[in-house]
Amino acid sequence: MALGDRLLAISGSPTSQNLTLLFPPLSSLLPMPPAIFLDKDGTLIEDVPYNVDPDRIRLTAGAIAGLQQLHQAGYPLIIISNQAGVARGYFAEAALLGVQQRVRGLLMEAGIPLAGFYYCPHHPAGSLPQYAIPCDCRKPRPGLLLQAAREQAIDLQRSWFIGDILHDVEAGRAAGCRTILLDNGNETEWELSYRRLPHHVVKDLSEAAEVILAIDRRSIPTIPGVPQ
Ligand SMILES: [Mg+2]
Ligand SMILES: [Zn+2]
Repeated sequence: MALGDRLLAISGSPTSQNLTLLFPPLSSLLPMPPAIFLDKDGTLIEDVPYNVDPDRIRLTAGAIAGLQQLHQAGYPLIIISNQAGVARGYFAEAALLGVQQRVRGLLMEAGIPLAGFYYCPHHPAGSLPQYAIPCDCRKPRPGLLLQAAREQAIDLQRSWFIGDILHDVEAGRAAGCRTILLDNGNETEWELSYRRLPHHVVKDLSEAAEVILAIDRRSIPTIPGVPQ
């Protein structure tokens, strides 16, 4: 609310609600940072279907170079992953802890911390009843992005979602993020529509980082009258 509106709102009798309008909590005035949301399988690590063996986890080409740049530019890096293998009974949900530790370890060796690791264990056609449910967290739905944004105070509008299939793009768009599709051959169905249209298409995470940094640096507001 603009200051003028706040002053207008308190022109009546002073109540605690009016005072909150004039003096909002400090936390609500701090700008929320944007984040980079990343799909895991086929985007951050090589896609080995339903693999939870930490020894078979390999980062994709360009992942280290791209994520180093994004981390150094100040973006929190957050994984958003569908793990229907849990619902299908292929592996226990606890096995994902080893996967997470391995991914975090590989990135930390290159000085890249992860700010979050979110996954959906559900699938409506799963074989384990407790996981075989429709949910809001399985991509293309945006539930995990919304949860991460809520928990970590992320500005979704200024954030990016990078994935290798159009379900990732759809989830990112539904959450209000800008989206990048890695065109690495993993999307095979190409059911394109406006809600699944990527903002950018690149070959790997290194190129994704270049696009993000070029665009976000360009959008830094300039001050009228001050030579750039
Ligand atoms: Mg993927
Ligand atoms: Zn889910």
